[in-house]
Amino acid sequence: MRYLSTRGGVEPVSFSEAVAQGLAPDGGLYLPETFPDLASELNDWASLSYPDLCHAFFRKFATDLDDEDLRKAIHSAYKNFSDPGIAPLVRLNESWQVLELFHGPTLAFKDFALQLLGNLYELQIKRTGKKLCVLGATSGDTGAAAISGLLGKSGVKVFILYPDGKVSPLQERQMTCTGAENVFPLAIEGTFDDAQRTVKELFGDLAFRESIGLSAVNSINLARILAQSVYYLYAWLRLDPAIRNQTTFVVPTGNFGNVFAGWLLTQMNVPIGGFRVATNKNDVLHRLFDSGEYELGSVSPSLAPSMDIQVASNFERLLFYFLEGNSQRVREVMNCFRLEGRYAFENFSIPGFSSSCTTDKEIPEIIGNVWNEYQYLVDPHTACAFKDLPKDQPSVVLATAHPAKFPQVFEDAGLKIPISPVLEALLDRKPVKHRVDVNPSSVRSFIESKF
Ligand SMILES: *Cc1c(COP(=O)(O)O)cnc(C)c1O
Repeated sequence: MRYLSTRGGVEPVSFSEAVAQGLAPDGGLYLPETFPDLASELNDWASLSYPDLCHAFFRKFATDLDDEDLRKAIHSAYKNFSDPGIAPLVRLNESWQVLELFHGPTLAFKDFALQLLGNLYELQIKRTGKKLCVLGATSGDTGAAAISGLLGKSGVKVFILYPDGKVSPLQERQMTCTGAENVFPLAIEGTFDDAQRTVKELFGDLAFRESIGLSAVNSINLARILAQSVYYLYAWLRLDPAIRNQTTFVVPTGNFGNVFAGWLLTQMNVPIGGFRVATNKNDVLHRLFDSGEYELGSVSPSLAPSMDIQVASNFERLLFYFLEGNSQRVREVMNCFRLEGRYAFENFSIPGFSSSCTTDKEIPEIIGNVWNEYQYLVDPHTACAFKDLPKDQPSVVLATAHPAKFPQVFEDAGLKIPISPVLEALLDRKPVKHRVDVNPSSVRSFIESKF
């Protein structure tokens, strides 16, 4: 299996190369050249454990990796999850179930991809002997999960930019209290999008990229997307076969990586009912699905900070399929969007997608209602998924983070404050962070000073 760029400017590459590079050299995102047809596998796969399912799925894509290496990388990635089911389904009522994705080491769904990515990087380094420098921007959870996945891995240095004061105090502690020598959390003045732009520009500097072996852990990395497809498949296989094809996955959404990972399965002949894109008040994607207009707003901090995003990087991947693989058109749209901050599609509609947006006022109300009705605590991101969710619609709500990561929201709303021993333990450790100006040359100098 080979991988092509959404912008069509590079020769297709192997799985390992796509993973090592993250962003393609032409500025595009990698996608598989073709899709495996999973229809005939689904029966056999229904009885597999989570790691075995993940392995069976990745064998279709990671065709240049040694199978036993791949198996070990996957099994060790999911060893540190605290729930034996890895991604358990919890029923709330006749129609609704919650897919709990917060049992990994940093208590958010990003662990599913980043625990595995850390192991894939290790394989890569073992094979090529080349060291890697991982650079990413985070609005909170990605940084913590990336750091946890790459902690102490030899041959890897990790630099994570985050907006100072705009991630939750616990998220910041998860990034800064690791004690690891290969990890550098960089606090910047500005928003997540400022951090993301700087990271993108550094990736555009090909000489720099080559010289230090730069790789991306943002959800632009294809391995992350594929690792996330697995829990949709795992959940889908556990649904009542009578309603599988009508079940909607409801996905708290920021960069569009998570929901895109689910949608990819529909391209592999897994008949999923639909996807509901749940945004917070930063509603660029809700407006897109509503009106066909993709228009940049300004980011405003919300109670669901990991979704405070206006440029949804992974949208480019969906766009590629929407434009029927025409990379010339992808470049035009992305260019227009970059220059003018908006693009109006004439008839934007993708079967199976719906959307919602939730204000900060509504988030604590929803948390309270879900608690009162089902004695179930949801975090502020997951809360967005319940906005206007029809009671009779068979739905799987993705719970993207553990509620204990955001105690302030519960305290302010006078609600029961959730706790987690994993987070309590962080309070005793000393934070280490670095302040850097949010421009490519300052960040580059900082990175170079660590080599
Ligand atoms: C990252 C994150 C999201 C958004 O996921 P995307 O893949 O960017 O759409 C939602 N909720 C939580 C808790 C997150 O950490």
